[in-house]
Amino acid sequence: MTRPNEDEYARQEAEIDELYREVILDHYRHPRNRASIESPTVSRQGYNPLCGDEIVVDLLVNGGVVEDVAVRGGGCSISQSSASMMSEAIVGRTVDEVESLFGGFTAMMRGSDDVDLDLLGDLEALMGVRKFPVRVKCATLAWHTLREALQELTGGKA
Ligand code: ZN
Repeated sequence: MTRPNEDEYARQEAEIDELYREVILDHYRHPRNRASIESPTVSRQGYNPLCGDEIVVDLLVNGGVVEDVAVRGGGCSISQSSASMMSEAIVGRTVDEVESLFGGFTAMMRGSDDVDLDLLGDLEALMGVRKFPVRVKCATLAWHTLREALQELTGGKA
């Protein structure tokens, strides 16, 4: 595995709109819900071989509602801040709402501008990453890991 060049990463991050960059760095330096849940309903690990990012997502789901979420892992600032933002965005939401968020966020990262940004909150900041296709994988890792966890819960029907 080749880890992309750190200088190249720094250069990319410097090109991200300043407001967006501040939000991303705030989540990276002060990650939310960074812990583990003792008895999660489901736990899933994700890996992005392009960058070496790793994410573990623990979910506590009760009656179709995500009551608690914990994320941890290691990797680049984009992957870790995205996981932090995701954890804030999904806690207290129903599994269906989380599914909509997943759809909205991944559509935004694929380049769609027809996305409800109010729903996404801080996640909007990751829009600045769209111009670096390799980093899009970093930004969506936590979400794909989350979705796999939800699919495990629902028996693959999601
Ligand atoms: Zn990465």
